[in-house]
Amino acid sequence: MYPPPLHHVFHPANADHYAATVGAGVEHLVSALRRVAGPAAGTEVAEAAARVAGVGLDAPLGDTAAALEELSRVWLDDAVWFHEPAYAAHLNCPVVVPALLAELFIASVNSSLDTFDQSVGGTFVERHLIDWTAGRIGFGEAADGVFTSGGTQSNLQALVLARGHLEREPLGRLRIFASADSHFSVQKSARLLGLGDSSVVCVPTDERHRMDPAALDRSLAACTALGLRPMAIVATAGTTDFGAIDPLPEIADLARAYDTWLHVDAAYGGGLLVSPRYRHRLAGIERADSVTVDYHKTFFQPVSSSALVVRDRTLMAPVTWHADYLNPRSAEGAPASPNQVDKSLQTTRRFDALKLWLTLRMMGPDTLGAYVDAVVDLARDVSVAIRDEADLELASRPELSTLVFRYVPAGSALEERELAALNNEIRAALYRSGRAMVAATKVDGRQFLKLTLLNPIATVGDIVGVVDLVRETGARLAASPVVEPVETTLEVAR
Ligand SMILES: *Cc1c(COP(=O)(O)O)cnc(C)c1O
Repeated sequence: MYPPPLHHVFHPANADHYAATVGAGVEHLVSALRRVAGPAAGTEVAEAAARVAGVGLDAPLGDTAAALEELSRVWLDDAVWFHEPAYAAHLNCPVVVPALLAELFIASVNSSLDTFDQSVGGTFVERHLIDWTAGRIGFGEAADGVFTSGGTQSNLQALVLARGHLEREPLGRLRIFASADSHFSVQKSARLLGLGDSSVVCVPTDERHRMDPAALDRSLAACTALGLRPMAIVATAGTTDFGAIDPLPEIADLARAYDTWLHVDAAYGGGLLVSPRYRHRLAGIERADSVTVDYHKTFFQPVSSSALVVRDRTLMAPVTWHADYLNPRSAEGAPASPNQVDKSLQTTRRFDALKLWLTLRMMGPDTLGAYVDAVVDLARDVSVAIRDEADLELASRPELSTLVFRYVPAGSALEERELAALNNEIRAALYRSGRAMVAATKVDGRQFLKLTLLNPIATVGDIVGVVDLVRETGARLAASPVVEPVETTLEVAR
């Protein structure tokens, strides 16, 4: 096609076309949003796959309306909506409008945060937000950090830095200490670093799923006695399943005693940094060497938005690399300009920081913090409301904003694997119904259901309603002659 049509390019000559296209998109999305009647449409895997597979990508539709109509069919009509109060499955938050306004600017202007000469003020917007987060953590003036794609990348980078800190130690001697309830990205990072799966020492947790400092002390001593070198302790501030916050002051003492890097994975609990009422639960976080914060979890930001923040900027050195074509050194050997790529695992990188910027400038941190408090209170209140129900087994009291429980038909004598099958089937049935979404997890090999509450709009009544749906569905399934065993339940250890 020569010459090719040029009206698709974001350019002043096409400003009207841009405004009309984005406007049509907003209208389409708003009308879809108004029609949402539950967290899911309940579409099955095969059906979702077939709708996408039928699209011939070599034959464009040509007009916006047709493309948006197709978009609804392949995705939007089946989407899972995190703003729905009955969505209580994974760690997804409803998103705030200022951040969505920012997304429009991020994508359209398309600044890349790797170098100053691709972002200019953007570099300093990101730095200002890192400094603000570091201030909330309680780090001093020397702190630094960088936005990342998510907690997984933040944790990986933290361990890369910890490894770099001990660069002369042979890989095979290094050990990472993390609790049994820590996020799997710790194990995955160890693998990516070439440390091997056995380099991660699993520290036992107490009855509230918090790392046991006495057990950590014993593990550290045992490893040291074997001639191994503790490379990092990963404390979790908000575990993915239970929201448990490891005892940070005691762990910080041990990190100091064993001269070991302390990383705090606050991917989930990071929102407490702005909490007016629960900030004290993070006491001790300021003693970390590095901290992961996922703004796309408890700061109500769209994916992706996360940061790794370090106590001292010199700790970032292991990821610095100078390339003549991108971020050369000056004649004096210092970086020639302020380039965020010097601190990042990524090169080309979205200006995700702008979302948090507009959120803070339009809403302010106290409103964000009040949202966090609301979901913490919600979990507590729902737990109180349901804890005496004879047909529900609560795995633990809530620490942050999750509730782990399962349906156990009153008076029944179901075996463990039947209970597992029943609860898995409840979860699948709820998804198919489109009325509620809950997650599943295992506790000591036993199958449970999980509610992750991150919606400040949801009420106790909404969530008790979800639990009631679980119970009604469970009662119905338990009464039917056959509970179809779901494949995964066959592996459940008795
Ligand atoms: C979600 C989570 C992660 C991973 O974060 P992503 O943004 O999903 O990559 C890491 N640690 C904890 C404790 C989490 O809850």
